[in-house]
Amino acid sequence: MPDLRGLYQDVILDHSRRPRNFRVIEAADRRADGYNPLCGDKVTIYLRLDGDRISDVSFRGSGCAISTSSASILTEIVKGKTRAEADALFGRFHDLVTGKAAPEGSDLGKLEVFGGVSEFPARVKCATLAWHTLKSALEGGGTVSTEGEDDEDVAAR
Ligand code: ZN
Repeated sequence: MPDLRGLYQDVILDHSRRPRNFRVIEAADRRADGYNPLCGDKVTIYLRLDGDRISDVSFRGSGCAISTSSASILTEIVKGKTRAEADALFGRFHDLVTGKAAPEGSDLGKLEVFGGVSEFPARVKCATLAWHTLKSALEGGGTVSTEGEDDEDVAAR
């Protein structure tokens, strides 16, 4: 296992210690559960939708610092976004953490702190778990596992 300290930048540590929107939305319109068997990360995403727009989003779960902070930052970033905007963000975030796009100029704001994850293929699924789960929730809910997701190509590098 490579030394991961370089990954744990201040933003990631802050969000993993004090996750934002870490709560259940009782009247959620959608929810989905995600599981990353490689690391043991679990996350549940709750959504309130106003038409096509995410009016509220929260999460619960347990996992490593990267999965928790990624979920926390996700909830801050996608709140108020439309489904199409959230999908587009996931695409760009995925390119970032798989090393297909550089953090510089990606215009991903706080999500850029996960750029270092591309150096640690085993952690890509930790960073993308909440996003896969959000996508599932937007598509109607259910349970997702990162096993078999297209992050594989990175893990095989
Ligand atoms: Zn993890």
